[in-house]
Amino acid sequence: MKKLLLVAVSALALSGCCSECKAPAEGGAEPVVYAINNLSHYYDFHADWGFKRQYLNGGEDKYTTGWSCIYNTDLSNANMLMLFNCDDRLPYVEKDINKIKAFLKEGGSLMILSNGTSTSQNALAEEFGASFVEGVTAPLTAAEKYATAPEVVMKGSTRHHLTLKKPSKWTVAVTDAEGNPMLAYTKKGKGKVLVGVRGLLGDNTDDIYDTINREMWHRVWRDVVRGGKSIDPEKGLQHQYIECVENKIQQDGLDITYNDYLAPCAEAMFQIAKKTMPVVEGIMGVPLSSNMGSKIVLIPTAGGGYSAGEVIALAVWWGDFPNREDSMIEFITHESVHSWVLPWAEIWNEPIATYVGYLAMMELGHNEEAERRLANTIRQATKLDPEFNLYDVDGKSWKRGVEDVSRDQLYGIHWGKSMWIFEQLRAENPDWVADYYKAKRQLAGTEQITALDANNTVALVSVAMGRDMFPWFRSIGFDVKRSKAEIKF
Ligand SMILES: [Zn+2]
Repeated sequence: MKKLLLVAVSALALSGCCSECKAPAEGGAEPVVYAINNLSHYYDFHADWGFKRQYLNGGEDKYTTGWSCIYNTDLSNANMLMLFNCDDRLPYVEKDINKIKAFLKEGGSLMILSNGTSTSQNALAEEFGASFVEGVTAPLTAAEKYATAPEVVMKGSTRHHLTLKKPSKWTVAVTDAEGNPMLAYTKKGKGKVLVGVRGLLGDNTDDIYDTINREMWHRVWRDVVRGGKSIDPEKGLQHQYIECVENKIQQDGLDITYNDYLAPCAEAMFQIAKKTMPVVEGIMGVPLSSNMGSKIVLIPTAGGGYSAGEVIALAVWWGDFPNREDSMIEFITHESVHSWVLPWAEIWNEPIATYVGYLAMMELGHNEEAERRLANTIRQATKLDPEFNLYDVDGKSWKRGVEDVSRDQLYGIHWGKSMWIFEQLRAENPDWVADYYKAKRQLAGTEQITALDANNTVALVSVAMGRDMFPWFRSIGFDVKRSKAEIKF
């Protein structure tokens, strides 16, 4: 009697509410999730930058991303492998499937998510008796034990539901209004396979509140790993970032890392980077700071990249590469300029990165396309600030009777006005970018200034242009003063 009572009390304390006072179905303490999200077949920004913070950031759960091929991923102390999607240009290979099956056999669990559009992801789900089929009817409902809120939230892009080969073998956690499964799991080997639509998870990397269905997911994940592979909390979860990725080209000052699946793209990426980087250095007038942007990692997506100081991640299919090269030149330049400008980001950090990208495109034979993109961007600001004398690049106005721009107009002003300014400077001094960065390296170290604000920026532009630019910047809407700049010239 005493024992039973203790179990009931501790289960209550763990769940923190009264709705589920039962002891865990298969006994023992609440299981913890040690998950690896493998990004080698598809780079999902949210999986890399938002998911951990939003969904697996507390308690004893652990989460990391895996960058090497699935068959080379260290799953030794993980109990769940997560696959958010698969690009059809890189379908799963036999070695991946074998690795996954061995993991399930030893009690590991697999989570397959899909937005329904990937044939390869569907094929993987079918391997385990589930498939993604078009059609979904709101609202969604969670099974009683997973119902943590009145309604299950579904992202607008969700268009698919699941069909299950042997429905009786599956536990369905979420259904749509017509009773179609949206999230379900089944036993495989000593582990389980969980299949669901991607839209049940948040996908906004920047929004910490985009944690839709969080409690529901936690209950599902716990039940999926329950009774499966045990993990060693002493050992923790092995961090498996790019240092584990299989291949590297180190040549001509470049250091490009890529997984086996991306080997066919690597040579073209190397060639375009080799052609672009010296041009960027010419435009910037100074070499990259040591250790900055020195490692390029190729990521399997068409959807962007990032710069994290030392590492630049590049989408291998950006702008229809390798069929077209113009956007890839702009993109490589953009990401590397983010590293180049450090230690201080610019007041126009995104526009300057793209602007240098346009200049690189011009030098590499894509003049017309670069001019077209520049003109389009500037046009966005012309609509709001026809004489270019109302706002600074943050949409602020210090003119009497002129309101600051609204939030949805800010993008147009920020990009358009910045580009317009750059073009005015280039008309007077074709090498202004190089002269600006030479000045910045000399006069704007972390010991020399406390911030690179608009005043210090205009001081550096003045040095680059060889004349006091404060009056001009004031005339085009900037509330700047030479006396407020830490940089003296
Ligand atoms: Zn950027």
